[in-house]
Order: sequence, then structure tokens, then C-alpha cells
Amino acid sequence: MASLRNRTRRMLVMNLEHEVSCASGACGCKPMRVVVTDQSPVTGVRAQRVIEKQVCASLTLLPRELRRGLPDSVLGCREVKAALRAGRVEVVAELPPAPAPKKEATP
Ligand SMILES: [Zn+2]
Repeated sequence: MASLRNRTRRMLVMNLEHEVSCASGACGCKPMRVVVTDQSPVTGVRAQRVIEKQVCASLTLLPRELRRGLPDSVLGCREVKAALRAGRVEVVAELPPAPAPKKEATP
């Protein structure tokens, strides 16, 4: 698991490309219907058709937000790596498990 912090005062949106972010198992991509227009090079007639496209999941961090529990594969995504290089986000160490409560010393 990884934790990322947005170091800026702006909201950041990073696309998580399928090849990297879905490599570890569950695919976070969503199918989306897109209308495309084709023009025949022969007749010049335009026709519309609907295709189904896989749209990548994305990670949105609010200004200064610290997000815990992200899959490690997120760190390998192109836009996340670019944001890390630019210093817009930082990797924060996961919190260790809560320590056991201390016992009162008995004299
Ligand atoms: Zn995917």
C-alpha cells in the first residue's frame, strides 16, 4: 500500500493508465460510449457510429490531501511519476500499527 500527499494548493487529477494500474489485478477502467464521425474518402458521405472505449481510472487529490491505502501500482503510472518528479505530490510512509498502550510504572 502507498500513501500520497498533494503538496500544492490546487486539486490534482492524474490518469492511471490501464497497462500499469490494472496490472496487479482488478481493472479500474470504465467503458464509455463515444460517438465518432466517419467520412468516406470515396463518396464523401459522413456517418456516425457509436464505439465503446475503455476509459482509465483517475486519481483525484484535493489541495493538501493525504490519501492512504492506494495500491502500489499507482506509483508506476506515468502522470503520478511526473507529479512526483515535479514535487507536486510526495509519497508518505504508511503509519505503523498503533502501539500498545503503555503500562503505568509501579514503584
Ligand atoms: Zn484497466
